[in-house]
Amino acid sequence: MFIGITGPLCSGKHTVAQYLVEKHNFTYLTLTDSTHPSVDYDCVRFHTLKEMQIYVTERWLENFVTCDVDGRGLWLFKKRPFFLLVSIEAPISVRFQRHVQRCQQNGENELGLLEFVIQNDLALFNIPEDDSTMLITDPMSPSRPRKQLSTTQSHTPLYTLMSLSDVTIANAYQSVPQLHACLDDLDLTNHERLRPSWDTYFMHLSDLAARRSNCMKRRVGCILVRDSRVIATGYNGTPKGLRNCNEGGCQRCNDATPCGTGLDRCLCMHAEENALLEAGRERVGPGKGVILYCNTCPCLGCAIKIVQTGVKEVVFSKSYGMDDFIAKVFAEAGVKLRQHSPPSMRLEMQVDVTEVDSSIIGKMGWMNSDVMRRRGSQDPNNHNS
Ligand SMILES: [Zn+2]
Ligand SMILES: [Zn+2]
Ligand SMILES: [Zn+2]
Repeated sequence: MFIGITGPLCSGKHTVAQYLVEKHNFTYLTLTDSTHPSVDYDCVRFHTLKEMQIYVTERWLENFVTCDVDGRGLWLFKKRPFFLLVSIEAPISVRFQRHVQRCQQNGENELGLLEFVIQNDLALFNIPEDDSTMLITDPMSPSRPRKQLSTTQSHTPLYTLMSLSDVTIANAYQSVPQLHACLDDLDLTNHERLRPSWDTYFMHLSDLAARRSNCMKRRVGCILVRDSRVIATGYNGTPKGLRNCNEGGCQRCNDATPCGTGLDRCLCMHAEENALLEAGRERVGPGKGVILYCNTCPCLGCAIKIVQTGVKEVVFSKSYGMDDFIAKVFAEAGVKLRQHSPPSMRLEMQVDVTEVDSSIIGKMGWMNSDVMRRRGSQDPNNHNS
């Protein structure tokens, strides 16, 4: 497993790296010209990120961590199925205190708060030198050159990198042991984030199906599986031919009816019902070994239909409020029920992410149209100007 850690200055990247090194036996990898402070544990150094990528690929069963991931690194590393990008953020006032502490320990000059904020903005959004005039300037040092912190060689703003991470850590903790406890909970080394188990895979698919829901009450998705193959999917909403629930199709759901009440006036089909109808009794029936995955524990109405159609096992992610009663119904009918909640992570792969070309950097979000126009008129290859 290879973990890349990204985040702004003094957010806690190295504390996370050190945690992985000391607690999970990871090896720390760094660049010879790294802008990060050196570490006092064993590390392997590389001249380029390409060399680092080759090294970890040849040893992909071992565990590595680096804080030297930028736009180019992400493009190289994300292609590999053993790579995980972790981003860490912390309140800027806390990060500034850490910066001051660190400078005092190392006998270096610290930045003032305003300068720290400006440097932070420059690094996060990769604002070019000539456009940095839009930022508040420090009246105490108006002519100080605006250097960029860690993105000098990469055009991809740190903000973009962080938004592409698989896992995000909000480090507002008072102490290192508290951060460690958060990391233990996150279970960073869980390989499910690299290649999901069947349970996680089908639970993610039911989450995806839930995205199609049109019910005003909640979004539920369901997947029917036989021999690790999907045989039907379903989500909740009004039946075909009726107006969608979220377009006013079901009066009960559109009223502020409390959860679980007024169901006799509800026109919405449940995700489990839709999936069972879609599959048909022939394909679900007893002895077929069908497993039903649902992002929410089934309601009683669905539970009795699940029993009647002969589903062998039900796996759910979130509780619904009457789980104990449902568990009794399933137990009596001989339907296995269990909970499986996958680790938190983002699902989009973004493998196509490439280092942002400076000519399209405006598309990444921060630049206004004025700046884009100025850029366009300076670019001899831009035929639209
Ligand atoms: Zn509805
Ligand atoms: Zn309804
Ligand atoms: Zn239901």
